[in-house]
Amino acid sequence: MIISERLSEYLKALECDLPEYLDRLEQQALMDEVPIIRKEAQALLRFLLCLLKPERILEVGCAVGFSAAFMSEYMPEGATLTTIEKVEQRIREARKNLAGIPRAGQVTLLCGDAKEVLQELSAKGETYPFIFMDAAKGQYMNFLPYLLELLPEGGLLITDNVLQEGTIVESKYTIPRRERTIHMRMREYVYTLKHMEELETVVLPVGDGMTLSVKKGMKR
Ligand code: SAH
Ligand code: MG
Repeated sequence: MIISERLSEYLKALECDLPEYLDRLEQQALMDEVPIIRKEAQALLRFLLCLLKPERILEVGCAVGFSAAFMSEYMPEGATLTTIEKVEQRIREARKNLAGIPRAGQVTLLCGDAKEVLQELSAKGETYPFIFMDAAKGQYMNFLPYLLELLPEGGLLITDNVLQEGTIVESKYTIPRRERTIHMRMREYVYTLKHMEELETVVLPVGDGMTLSVKKGMKR
């Protein structure tokens, strides 16, 4: 937890209830220990969807479809959402879950490794003004070049879990060996976002740490 437990509980308590179908999905996912977006991340996504009203949304990392269902609930009326997942079992769950949501017809699940799927979407010339990245943390750097192609000027890239429960600031020697690579890659990812000319990025200590990056226009 990045902020104190009490503060986090307070912030959660301020949130309004979810529609019943989302609440059920959330409870089931939490019971199955699927790492779905937290309440704080939900609040931020909902706010951004309301502010930006994106017509096309792309998600990397669908899991069982909770965040996709969540975003579809709060996206503009005619908007579409595309989400990517590679694990068979999760794809099955997600298909089942997403088939039953009110806007099922506006949500597409693409199956396969995100790197390949992103490459294909970008080859097709697709663009998404609202991209939510929430997949394998160690791979964010590999996905980034494709995401930049898929993001139009003024588009927003949101990345989840960038502060690693706050351990991002710890020395790599205090991090368990098996997590060191991810730790290093996440630092590199956040640094890159912050220093990339095409992007303006803010790092927020929301949930497990989130970045918001907007793609800037060309300099005149
Ligand atoms: N966004 C979801 C949670 C995603 S958890 C929610 O909040 O409801 C991260 C998911 O990304 C996992 O299900 C994992 O299987 C998937 N994933 C990880 N690496 C991936 C890759 N390279 N391609 C596609 N999916 C990937
Ligand atoms: Mg996440």
